[in-house]
Amino acid sequence: MIQNKTMLSVAEALNLLLGAARAVTEIESIPTLSANGRVLAQAQRSMLNVPPQDNTHMDGYAVRVGDCVDGAARLLVSQRIPAGHIGTPLSVGTAARIFTGAFIPEGADAVVMQEQCSVEIEGDQTYVHVGHAPKLGEWIRRRGEDILAGAEILPVGVRLRAQELGLAASVGLATLPVLRRLRVAVFFTGDELTMPGEPLKAGAIYNSNRFLLTALLQNLGCEITDYGIVPDNLDATRNTLRAAASGHDLIITSGGVSVGEEDHVRPAVEAEGRINMWQIAVKPGKPLAFGEVRRGSDVESGDNAFFLGLPGNPVSSLVTFLLFVRPFILRLQNVTNLTPQSYWMRADFAITKADKRNEFLRAKINQDGGLDCFANQSSGVLSSAVWGDGLIDLPAGGTVAQGDLVKFIPFAGLL
Ligand code: AMP
Ligand code: MG
Repeated sequence: MIQNKTMLSVAEALNLLLGAARAVTEIESIPTLSANGRVLAQAQRSMLNVPPQDNTHMDGYAVRVGDCVDGAARLLVSQRIPAGHIGTPLSVGTAARIFTGAFIPEGADAVVMQEQCSVEIEGDQTYVHVGHAPKLGEWIRRRGEDILAGAEILPVGVRLRAQELGLAASVGLATLPVLRRLRVAVFFTGDELTMPGEPLKAGAIYNSNRFLLTALLQNLGCEITDYGIVPDNLDATRNTLRAAASGHDLIITSGGVSVGEEDHVRPAVEAEGRINMWQIAVKPGKPLAFGEVRRGSDVESGDNAFFLGLPGNPVSSLVTFLLFVRPFILRLQNVTNLTPQSYWMRADFAITKADKRNEFLRAKINQDGGLDCFANQSSGVLSSAVWGDGLIDLPAGGTVAQGDLVKFIPFAGLL
């Protein structure tokens, strides 16, 4: 075991973690429709132009600009082109009735929207009065203006959201190569823990971290195996670690990583593999256990599951997950962008007493566009995170005066 005497900064701890991460390599091809949240394993190119041809942005009349220069043209309506149908070349002095999405007929060079036109029927002929002199190309969406044939549309390592899937589909990609999902085992240490649904005995509390961590892992697209509540003893902890190592890339635990007599995670991981205990200058959080649990007989063989031990206090667990576990999991999945979005926002509160640790305060955006800070920032008060919209990243030794700009990381950007 390596014991770090000095406290690591958040950035130092993150660098160590990411430096140790080995990404999964197995690629699977899955339907684009099922790929939400997955990580793209190979860059994707378009074989075609989007849109494939010039087409109309409006319902109206396709015309020749030269026929409409005086803003009072009367043109014979020579054809009708709904979306999905192909017209014929437009003769001089005529217009084509045309509907949004339909390709522009050869010869036409502008569309006049129907609101600027009036129709006159004369026998079996229809004429359109065009009360507007269109500019060349008016209301025409150009071929390839979204995507040009041959262009890269999605880079490797992108997490696929609704918009990426829509873009992939727009160039006709029915399947996508993605990395296999990460297999994560979780368990929760603590004799005091009880599952919701069961009566709460004296001295007990409910296992809220199970629900917190499960949802966080689901948001990151992990396959989860839940080994449930493990009592505070060395053998039970070792047995569960051994079971969890096989078939999983990563084991995550909650609780039991302090240095108390009832904290068995650290000696258990040490006996089943290797562990680094990091004291991180972060609040809430501080202790983070990172290690590996062997699958075979020797941890040096490299056939190991990664191990991350989170503190038991729910807010510490949440913050530690967001700061460290999330980027680690993203790196194991070869995701390129690990940095959550953050914004400089105005503090509508003050913090006069500096802390020597880097604090992550639960905060909420108020109606004036500034930030309010939850009054009780204790690591056991999960209500603060429900109330909040995100975290303020307050550097070690920092204070805040009303009106200062502070770095705000929305929870929404951490999913
Ligand atoms: P520990 O990290 O085991 O020392 O636990 C720190 C605090 O977090 C104690 O008050 C525990 O009761 C609490 N705690 C530990 N595990 C959980 C859990 N799964 N859900 C809610 N609270 C927990
Ligand atoms: Mg405990």
